[in-house]
Amino acid sequence: MHILLMGPPGAGKGTQAAELVKAFQIPHISTGDMFRAAIKEGTEMGKQAKSYIDKGQLVPDEVTIGIVRDRLGQDDCKKGFILDGFPRTVEQADALTGILKDLGLSLTRVLNINVPASDLIERAVGRRICKKCGATYHTKFNPPKKEGICDECGSELFQRADDNAETMKNRLSVYEASTKPLIDYYKKAGLYTEVDGRQAIDKVTADLIKVLQG
Ligand SMILES: [Zn+2]
Repeated sequence: MHILLMGPPGAGKGTQAAELVKAFQIPHISTGDMFRAAIKEGTEMGKQAKSYIDKGQLVPDEVTIGIVRDRLGQDDCKKGFILDGFPRTVEQADALTGILKDLGLSLTRVLNINVPASDLIERAVGRRICKKCGATYHTKFNPPKKEGICDECGSELFQRADDNAETMKNRLSVYEASTKPLIDYYKKAGLYTEVDGRQAIDKVTADLIKVLQG
């Protein structure tokens, strides 16, 4: 079960990845986690990545691809993985195909949790987070019992600065522009399936599992 999980920011990809980890007992591999782990372990690729991140620069493809190659070559990935955050470009997708081929593996399916931009903006704008325990709420879909106060610990809720319509619109248009060619790439490869991410969380999970077992 070698899965690539895609979805726009705010579509609930992390939540769904965690459910798939439980369902299939395979590791969730996100680029962010990989960078942190490689840097922490002080691998050659980790050191290179750190030198760019420390300077506030983008990590170049060759370094990112090297880190992905190292990670996917580890034993726990033989049975499967849920890859998330990579590839982001067609060039990286080609590299991934090559890495998997070298390892004697191939992608089982590319899943995209599809949520329209207008829904994602509404989700972001209403999101409120507890200052103390990190519990999340939504003014419309999951309001706290008392406005502005956390149900769990009674602390004050706040709105993240980037949870506003303008920032979300920009992030989503960047995401869409960069992802469109990838979607076409995986459609062409016959690997692409879209799941409706507007549904309840457990329904989205059920759909993802159904696709993978089908
Ligand atoms: Zn709280």
